[in-house]
Formats: sequence, structure tokens, C-alpha cells
Amino acid sequence: MKPTYSVIVPVYNEKESLPVLYERMVSVMDQTGEPWELILVDDGSFDGSSQIMRELSQKDPRVRVIFFARNFGHQIAVTAGMDHALGDAAIVIDADLQDPPEVILELIEKWKEGYEVVYAVRTGREGESWFKKETASVFYRLIYKITDVKIPLDAGDFRLLDRKVLDVMNSMREKHRFLRGMSAWVGYKQIGVPYQRAPRYAGKTKYPLKKMILLAWNAITGFSYVPLQIAMILGFIVAFISILLIIVVIILRINGNELVGQATTLISTLFLGGVQLICLGIIGEYLGRIYDEVKNRPLYIAAEITPSIYDEDSEKPSEQERKE
Ligand code: UDP
Ligand code: MG
Repeated sequence: MKPTYSVIVPVYNEKESLPVLYERMVSVMDQTGEPWELILVDDGSFDGSSQIMRELSQKDPRVRVIFFARNFGHQIAVTAGMDHALGDAAIVIDADLQDPPEVILELIEKWKEGYEVVYAVRTGREGESWFKKETASVFYRLIYKITDVKIPLDAGDFRLLDRKVLDVMNSMREKHRFLRGMSAWVGYKQIGVPYQRAPRYAGKTKYPLKKMILLAWNAITGFSYVPLQIAMILGFIVAFISILLIIVVIILRINGNELVGQATTLISTLFLGGVQLICLGIIGEYLGRIYDEVKNRPLYIAAEITPSIYDEDSEKPSEQERKE
């Protein structure tokens, strides 16, 4: 038997939210009247979440837990869930209940109408700092402007993906992943469903500014060459300014004026050095990403994957049981 829906939840130290998440998920998903599975990806939690997840999987055979060998990050955790999803549609949702599980029913409704990607759009956010909201807003708009793919504004990873989209995305093994961009890149029929983002149920955000910047940088480098183009434009601007300055110096000389001072020389040398290092750094960022692709390491290491009711041989008795 295969489930119709696979709910994927990345978990990093969310012990308070997990039991509530499970209860609300069961009551929502049971309303569909179709078989479903819950895939919890333990992204190297160390606060006791792992134990809670293990208990959930033992109690409810529809729950599968993928335990990572260490913390690999949110995007990779979701990727692992997508790799192991068996359903006709997968729903990606956060563990902290900021994305209300009840909205899943609306996503499913749109899927039944024939949309292959149904993303949830945040119309409002409660319980988040002014700084978080502003940086997130700038983030979405910047990405929208810079990247080649039109990535919907104010839509996070909370979304439903049809099996077709899932298969394509699972075949894209790029190392620095920006899943929102990848799911937009795939195409097919896509639609947004508005929702209010709730405050975190418990705990603190696992996305500090550093991780947000890294995600934005992955989005930009993964979906555009704009930084490289900026480097080139910068080169042209500096070259243009120096030509103007050369003309100025020639005119001054002709008129008998001598330019004096080492400071000018020093400043222009330092300025050029700075510009060159910045451009080199930008090229380096792309180079590093190429290096990561060439190394071709696995995206994650799953230390353990718990069995589920949907495993192919779960109905049959195991080798051990038959012998007994
Ligand atoms: N998360 C994860 N690995 C990480 C960081 C976060 O699996 O390294 C999970 C986290 O447990 C949550 C989801 O990703 O389920 C979103 O994280 P968070 O709520 O902290 O982000 P925010 O909503 O503040 O942007
Ligand atoms: Mg959150």
C-alpha cells in the first residue's frame, strides 16, 4: 500500500512542539480520508527531540523518522524527506507550528483542482521581531529581482508538491540547495494559497541572521550570475574613471601644473586592490560551489531510518519471525 500524502517535517531541537504537532497533524490528515505518512527528519537534534520522535514512530506506524548523523541544515533535511516520500503528493511544513497544519487541507483542495505546486503565501506574520520581518521582506524581493526564475514573493518552504514535481526535484542533486527556487524552476501549474503565519509554538528560531544570509546567497548564486556581472560592471566603471583621470592629468600637465603627493597614488592603488579582491572573492564563491559539485559527496548521512507501515515488506513476516 502507498500513502496518498507524505507530510515532511524537518526537526532541529523542537521537543516542545513535537507532541502538539503530531496531534494536530493526525486530526488534520485524518480528515482527508486517505492514507498518509508523516516523515520526521531529525537534523541532529540534541535536546531530546530524537527520543520523542522515536516514540512517535513506535506508537504510530505511519510515522517514519530519518535520523541524520549530524546537523546538515534545514534545506537538506527537507531534501531527505522528499527522497523518502512515498505519496502522490508531498507537503513540506515546519515543526514549530508557525505554518498551521490546518492550511494543508486548502493546499490539498488546490492539488485536487489540478495544480502541481501549491505554495502557501504569508499574508501576515505574528510574534516575529520587526527585524526578522523586514529582513525576510527584503530577502524575498531581492531574490525576486535578481534570480532568473520567478520565485513567488513571501512564500516559504511550506508547500505541496505533486509526485511529478517531486521526481524532478529529487533528480536535481545540487549541493547548495534553495528548494523554493528549485520548485519554481520545475514549472508545471503552480498556485499560491494565502495564510497567516502563527508565532512559534515554543523555543527560538533556528534561522539566525547568519543562516538567513547564507540561504539568500545560495539562492542568488544558484539561480543567477548577477554577482559576476556586477564584478564586470565594476571593472568597467573603474576603467572609465581612470580614463577620465588620465585626461585630467594630461590637461593639467599641458597647463604647466605638476601633480604632487604620494597619497593619491596610494589611495588609487589600494582602491584598485580592494576592487580586485572583491571580484576575486565573487569568482571564488562560484568556484567553491563548482568544487562542491565536483566532489559530489552525498547530500546527507542518514544514521538510521525507522520502518513504516508503507514499507514494501511490512505486511510479510520478517526472516526472523518466520524462523521462530
Ligand atoms: N531546522 C532544521 N535544521 C536547521 C535549522 C532549522 O531542520 O539547521 C528546522 C526547524 O526545526 C524548523 C524549520 O527547520 O522545523 C524552520 O526553522 P525555524 O522555524 O527556526 O525558521 P524560521 O521560521 O524562524 O525562519
Ligand atoms: Mg519557524
